Amino acid sequence: MQTKKNVLTKQWQMMRRSCGNVRQVLSIKWTAFRAWQESPIEYKMDGSAHVCNNCGYRYRGNYCPRCSQSAHHGRISWLAMWQGIGQLWGIESRSAIYTLWQLLLRPGYLVRDYISGKRQVSYPPVKLLFILAAVVALIQFFFPRPATDISEIGFQYVDYALRWLDEHQSISALANGCIFILPTWILFRNAPLYPNHSIPEGFFLQVYIAILTFLLSSLFAEGALASTILIVFYTFATYKQLFGYGYWGTFWRLLICFALSLVILVIFIIIGIAISKLHIFTTAQ
Ligand SMILES: [Zn+2]
Repeated sequence: MQTKKNVLTKQWQMMRRSCGNVRQVLSIKWTAFRAWQESPIEYKMDGSAHVCNNCGYRYRGNYCPRCSQSAHHGRISWLAMWQGIGQLWGIESRSAIYTLWQLLLRPGYLVRDYISGKRQVSYPPVKLLFILAAVVALIQFFFPRPATDISEIGFQYVDYALRWLDEHQSISALANGCIFILPTWILFRNAPLYPNHSIPEGFFLQVYIAILTFLLSSLFAEGALASTILIVFYTFATYKQLFGYGYWGTFWRLLICFALSLVILVIFIIIGIAISKLHIFTTAQ
């Protein structure tokens, strides 16, 4: 009896110890992940001497100061061959895929880096949105999605705009985001982590959110609940990481942002209806 109890206590102690170890490992990994989120790329200076393969200039560093060719460009290698083919799609470096990866794991920090001047951390976002659209269009060409009915509301220009936006989903994701620019500026311009947020910066924030929206909605079936939940989650995470308000502060501001953007959307629809009516009126005469 005594020995059985001893064995049990020993097992219990071992289990507690291993749980403690797992917790310790997880906590170290989490701290490392948080540090990566804040600052993912470490730039190293190449101190060795180079002779530029392009212009013959002698220098130390990563790039030629005279013609700006990389110190690592030499004769064509297998990697250079793939990069050359990738240039056709604008994905010559891995940074396009790495940018998407960053967008999934540190969305708000990536946006803050880009709009505050750290341009090298990201692939050019507008270009990325359109490349992504081209890649998704290519995939959907081979694996077409079932066509969906677009609800028509019976006014020529409004219906025309809805149809056009359905056919151009990257632009529609961006147009959707553009409605958020003004409300975001009104509610988030005095944010603790990114004060004096400007309208052009707001545009790039919406480009990144459009990339995320586009990426997430193409991963799931059209109108799937999972993609809607993920898009809401990512919008919240992006705003929270970028602007630095707490959970509640981010939540209520985003809620008002959403309400204001609906008002802007209604104004656009009213203008569309007015133009359609005017058109019917002038053609009837
Ligand atoms: Zn050179």
